[in-house]
Amino acid sequence: MVLVKGARVLRALVAVGVLGALVGAPSASGEGEPQPAASQESGSVRLYVLDCGYIFMVDEILEILSLAPDEVPSRDMAVPCYLIEHPRGTLVWDTGLPFAPDAENTLESQLAELGYAFGDITYVAMSHMHGDHAGNANAFKDSIWLAREAEREYAFSGETEGVGWGTPEIYSELENSETIVIEGGDDHDVFGDGRVVIVSTPGHTPGHQVLFVDLAETGPIVLSGDLYHTAPSYELRRVPTFNFDEAQTRASFEKLDAFMEETGAELWIEHDHAHHESLRKAPEYYR
Ligand SMILES: [Zn+2]
Repeated sequence: MVLVKGARVLRALVAVGVLGALVGAPSASGEGEPQPAASQESGSVRLYVLDCGYIFMVDEILEILSLAPDEVPSRDMAVPCYLIEHPRGTLVWDTGLPFAPDAENTLESQLAELGYAFGDITYVAMSHMHGDHAGNANAFKDSIWLAREAEREYAFSGETEGVGWGTPEIYSELENSETIVIEGGDDHDVFGDGRVVIVSTPGHTPGHQVLFVDLAETGPIVLSGDLYHTAPSYELRRVPTFNFDEAQTRASFEKLDAFMEETGAELWIEHDHAHHESLRKAPEYYR
């Protein structure tokens, strides 16, 4: 990985080993330093599920998802965001649609209920930069962006017209954020202890990725991004017609199968409405 724009200071801090202390990582003189995450005392990882929108799958959407109407149990599609608390900091994974369907229940208000303002979040990462995942990306301009190189390049290429891509203005402020660029197909171990890891699964978009979270009580899970949109998409191995690269998508299906087999992780398909409905929502959490 490399650090880019706006990250010169960050790079210098890493070089002298200060960054770990800043974000609460263990260090030689770590005792008594500020503890940013609420789960610090127990040293546990917590996963909060947030509501960040809703999509109704009209016929045209089903069609581009390569699904027939009788293959899906419902036309509802969830749009979640997630907050991960780790003793060394926080990560917001996916930022939802740019508009909240419920003005009383925005991403901002859900984070506030947990005691966070946008600027408090250590890291932000998107499974990919489509408009239903990067909708609130600009709100995290003061966080460190964990960006897949291919996705970042494509997102700022000026050629993102097409299904799924919102206007680049929804994430434009990240271009100058402190950024850790994850190169090629590298994994990125977010907090350095293997419990929260970004895994490359390209194909839906050039730099699509999923998130592995190893929870002490719940067990290991994978947040799917849009590698699969619905449970039937997974069961039937459907590749959406608007994917960036079909062969790459199928290779990512196989890669994730092997990864789940190896880790014993359970797949959480983010947009799957029935699964999302079955989950505990913030302020409750998984650990
Ligand atoms: Zn999506």
